[in-house]
Amino acid sequence: PLLINQLAAGEVVTRPAAVVKELLENAIDAEATDINIHITQGGMGMIQISDNGHGIHPDDMVMAITRHATSKVADIGTLQGIRTLGFRGEALAAIAAVSRLQLISSHTDDGVGRQIQVAGVLADTPALTPVVHERGTTVTIKDLYFNVPARRGNLKSVATEFAHIEAMVREVALARADIRIQLTHDHKKRLSLAAQQDSASDTNHPPLSRLEQALGLSLSASALPLHVDLSSLLVAAAPTSTQGQVGDASARIDGWLFLDADSNMPAPKLIYINGRLVKEPIISNQLRQLTPQATGYALYFQLPVHWLNLNVHPSKQRIKIGSISNILAHLSHAVRSALPIATV
Ligand code: ADP
Ligand code: MG
Repeated sequence: PLLINQLAAGEVVTRPAAVVKELLENAIDAEATDINIHITQGGMGMIQISDNGHGIHPDDMVMAITRHATSKVADIGTLQGIRTLGFRGEALAAIAAVSRLQLISSHTDDGVGRQIQVAGVLADTPALTPVVHERGTTVTIKDLYFNVPARRGNLKSVATEFAHIEAMVREVALARADIRIQLTHDHKKRLSLAAQQDSASDTNHPPLSRLEQALGLSLSASALPLHVDLSSLLVAAAPTSTQGQVGDASARIDGWLFLDADSNMPAPKLIYINGRLVKEPIISNQLRQLTPQATGYALYFQLPVHWLNLNVHPSKQRIKIGSISNILAHLSHAVRSALPIATV
């Protein structure tokens, strides 16, 4: 079982940034509004993420680090329509299999939490120690790949690994302007993003100022807002049982195209689907055909969950989208109308 865990772990935990991504997604799934990330030595020393989310009940602490244990999927059928970022229940188990992991969590406001530790193998009856901890969760990873020399040998320099972590944290921060996110590296502050109050939870995209803050770019001069209403597709694509009822499902795309942004800094090319950053060649290829070479974009898709199948790749960055050709047709039309005549 140890070997299987370590092999499986390789798919999920390819480098320190992948660890940070999973832990960050867990904090967001727990509805944290404040997330602190401390990294040392590019993640090879320590990765620590604290959140003020809903925490883990003491009875669920062991399950949290057990493979295929997730509190987020009631049955496999719901994978189709999953709303949370995590859903396979393998991240913490995979990370624990290749590091020394400490999980501390409290689900109450009495200042008391529980601590559990794993180093490669989970003990049959792991000790659950009471510790002082505010409501929320702190995960600390040390000695990543201590038992997988091949992986350790593949790691790049401290600066490169941290650059991957920082880029990933920025990308996640862009999806959620309502969360305060701090990132330090070797005790130096690297990113400090305040929560933006005006980003009401039902808005589909962050304000442009959050993008500028998170990316360290000046974008407002080159930003063309884009709003695409896809609600006409809802009726057509709705399951027959709903008899055309659109209900509370919404389908739209909001965001910006960035035309000739600062030529020293390439404009970002970001696609978010329901708050998840994705790499969707079918969408990015379409945008490349429609826009001049240097055009960047940040597009936030809000799509009904029954259109999506996230279970395509372990990284969860690939999504199968129902009615994709209709969506692309609407997007193309909107992009053509938004672009100044001269650039088309
Ligand atoms: P998944 O996110 O796919 O469910 P993980 O291995 O990442 O699987 O996490 C396992 C479980 O541990 C989660 O389903 C959740 O119940 C719990 N958990 C992990 N991290 C946190 C956190 N930061 N706050 C609250 N619960 C958490
Ligand atoms: Mg997870």
